[in-house]
Amino acid sequence: MNPIFADLPTTVFEVMSALARETGAVNLGQGFPDDPGPEDVRAKAAEAVIHGWNQYPPMMGLPELRRAVAAHYAHWQGLGVDPDAEVMVTSGATEALAGALMALIEPGDEVVLFAPLYDAYLPLVRRAGGVPRFVTLTPPHFRLTEAALAQAFSDRTRVVLFNNPLNPAATVFPEEDLALLAAFCRRFDAVALCDEVWEHVVFDGRRHRPLMALPGMRERTIKVGSAGKIFSLTGWKVGFVLAAPPLMRVLAKAHQFLTFTTPPNLQSAVAYGLAKDDAYFEGMRAGFARARDRFAAGLSELGFTVLPAAGTYFLNVDIAPLGFADDVAFCDRLVRRHGVAAIPVSAFYAQDPVRHVVRFCFAKRDETLDAALDRLSGVA
Ligand code: PMP
Ligand code: GLN
Repeated sequence: MNPIFADLPTTVFEVMSALARETGAVNLGQGFPDDPGPEDVRAKAAEAVIHGWNQYPPMMGLPELRRAVAAHYAHWQGLGVDPDAEVMVTSGATEALAGALMALIEPGDEVVLFAPLYDAYLPLVRRAGGVPRFVTLTPPHFRLTEAALAQAFSDRTRVVLFNNPLNPAATVFPEEDLALLAAFCRRFDAVALCDEVWEHVVFDGRRHRPLMALPGMRERTIKVGSAGKIFSLTGWKVGFVLAAPPLMRVLAKAHQFLTFTTPPNLQSAVAYGLAKDDAYFEGMRAGFARARDRFAAGLSELGFTVLPAAGTYFLNVDIAPLGFADDVAFCDRLVRRHGVAAIPVSAFYAQDPVRHVVRFCFAKRDETLDAALDRLSGVA
C-alpha cells in the first residue's frame, strides 16, 4: 500500500458531516448550501436524463458545454479561449487538479503551495512525486509577500498551486498580489495551477480576476472552475479546465484514464446555466452576501471575533480572544455539546498550523443560521 494514502486520516469534511448527522447538529462544517440550487438548471438535467443522451459523451466534454464555458469566461473575465482546443470538462475541480498534478510533475519537482491549503492538495502533490514548498499566509489578511514567495520558489519549481478566492480564509487576493505571483511564475518558468472554484462567490462589488489574464500568464496557467460552486450544486461534480493547447494536450492524457468523462445530462444542464443572464449571478452573490452579513452580525453579537470574508461560503472566527487555543478541541465541543458543526482551520495546514481560527459555512437558509446562532449563544 502506498503510505501517502494509507496513513492519511479521513478528510475533515466527511468526519464533521458524519458527526453532525450522528449528533443532530446544525451542519455549518462542510461547505454546501441547504438550498436545492436553481430549479431551471435542475430541470434541464432531469429532462436530459429522461430525453437526452445518456451514453458516453466526448472525452473532452460536450461541445455545447465547452462553447458555453468559453463564452462564460469571455463575458465574465475577459478571457479568450478556443472551446475546441483550450477547454476540457472534468468530474469536478478535484479531478482536474489530480489530473494536472499527475500530468505535470516529475518526481522531485517542486510545487509551491499556500497555507492554509485545501486538504486534497498535499496528498495529490506528494503522490505525483512533487516536493511541497509552503508559503504560509497569516490571518487576518492572508496576503502574499515578496519575501515569502522568494523563500518558496527555486530553480526546481515546476508548479504553483494557487487557490483564489481562498478556502478557508475567504480571501480574494488583490491585483497587487496576483501581479507579484505572476512575476515569480514568469521568473522561475513555473506553471500556475489555479483553483478558482469560488470565482463567482465574491462580495461587496468585487469581480474575480483570473491569474491567467495577467501579462505572460496565458500560456503558463491552468485555470480550474466548478459548476458545483457556480450553481450551488456541490454534488454534481462538473468541473472545467482552461489551458493553452500545449498544456491541454497533456492534461487530456491524464483525464482520459482518470474518469474519461462526466455525466452528459449534467453537462448539458451546466451549459444551459452558464448562459444565464448577469442578474442571476448578481442575485446569487447578493443572497450569499446577505447570509454572510446576517451570520456575522449574529456571531459578533454573541461575542465572537469575526474575520473579514470577501468571498466563498465561509466565515472564520478567532477563538483566541475567548481563551481557546485548540481549534480541534473547540470544534469537537461545539458539535457534541452545543450542536453546531464547524471546521477547525488547522486542518488546512501541513506545518505550523494556525490553531485559533474556526470556519463556519454561512451558505444556509436564514432558519438554519438562526438555529445555529441560538445554539452558539453562551459559547463565547
Ligand atoms: N477546490 C477548493 C478550494 C474547494 O473548496 C473545493 C470544494 N469546495 C474543491 C476544490 C472541489 O471542487 P469539486 O467539488 O468541483 O471537485
Ligand atoms: N470544499 C468543501 C469545503 O471546503 C468540501 C468538499 C469536500 O467535502 N470534499 O467545505
